[in-house]
Amino acid sequence: MTVDVTVVGGGISGLACARAVRDAGRSVHVIDRGRRPGGRLSSRTLDGRAVDLGASYFVVGDDRDFARVVAEWEARGLARPWTDTFSAIGPDGSATRKTGPMRWAAPAGLRSLALDLAEGLDVESGRAVERVAPFRVDGDEAGEVVLAMPEPQARRLVDAPPVAAQEWEAVIAVVLRWDERQWPADLHGAFVNGDPDIAFLADDGDRRGDGAPVLVVHTTGAAAQRHLHDPDAAIGPVVSATRRLLGIDAEPVATSAHRWTFARPARTTGAPFFRSPGLSLCGDAWGESAAVRTAWASGDALGRVLAAS
Ligand SMILES: Cc1cc2nc3c(=O)[nH]c(=O)nc-3n(C[C@H](O)[C@H](O)[C@H](O)COP(=O)(O)OP(=O)(O)OC[C@H]3O[C@@H](n4cnc5c(N)ncnc54)[C@H](O)[C@@H]3O)c2cc1C
Repeated sequence: MTVDVTVVGGGISGLACARAVRDAGRSVHVIDRGRRPGGRLSSRTLDGRAVDLGASYFVVGDDRDFARVVAEWEARGLARPWTDTFSAIGPDGSATRKTGPMRWAAPAGLRSLALDLAEGLDVESGRAVERVAPFRVDGDEAGEVVLAMPEPQARRLVDAPPVAAQEWEAVIAVVLRWDERQWPADLHGAFVNGDPDIAFLADDGDRRGDGAPVLVVHTTGAAAQRHLHDPDAAIGPVVSATRRLLGIDAEPVATSAHRWTFARPARTTGAPFFRSPGLSLCGDAWGESAAVRTAWASGDALGRVLAAS
């Protein structure tokens, strides 16, 4: 029996889409190439502890439906408000405090939220889809097909790309662990301005709530491009910049690098999703700003439309 909808991509947009379809009483199958769903909501276990390697946090925003989902996560202890205050660090290490929207984190890592959305859905992990056409996935009948992934990844799967090519930027996430915290407990996170190597850093122990002396540092797009074929080569410059800007004397005791070739779209489309008969697209490029909440809203909106069609 053919399902009504097949979602290729089990990041937060694909999972939100699948849930909207399922909640409307239609059948849906999700396929993801990863060992576990989550995509760029990525928490990897390093030295026995989950570290957030992709999205650093999320903001709830104005979407009442997403706010309801987050309120439920909070009630169940899956998500928690982290901080509304980050620092902005200049090239000389001078820091100013900046208050903004509340940033949310997940005690078990952000992937736990994707796993929660995947609960009860028919999700096939560990399968890399190779070819997609309207109503077909790898040659099989698949109902309405949704590609819930960055456009450059979607483009590889189709003969005739349904939308114009999008430009995406890379980031390398570098995890730095010390034996004990080397920075003020109220650092939380910091945007780094004017540095050639690093753009953002987060106190992972602070956001996760276990106090582990771990920073996750995101490179600039230019540094990521320089080291795209050898992400480990980004570790040295990232360690130097982090130690210089935060005034840390000690070398980290453990480091690791993760490459995101398609971390964020250079521009978002403004449209909530792309829909054509048999083949649709959703994800964080579909909306006003590339973020977790945008990806969720894009998938949810597309799922509702597909379920109603
Ligand atoms: C370094 C970094 C920092 C970020 N920081 C923030 C932040 O602080 N706040 C914020 O809100 N957002 C942040 N983001 C963005 C946020 O992570 C994304 O907006 C969101 O996770 C995108 O979800 P998605 O479902 O659209 O795409 P993805 O999470 O990329 O999901 C796509 C899925 O498709 C799967 N896939 C791809 N190709 C195939 C195939 N051929 N077959 C099967 N499956 C396939 C992948 O495995 C993946 O699971 C950050 C992202 C990165 C990388």
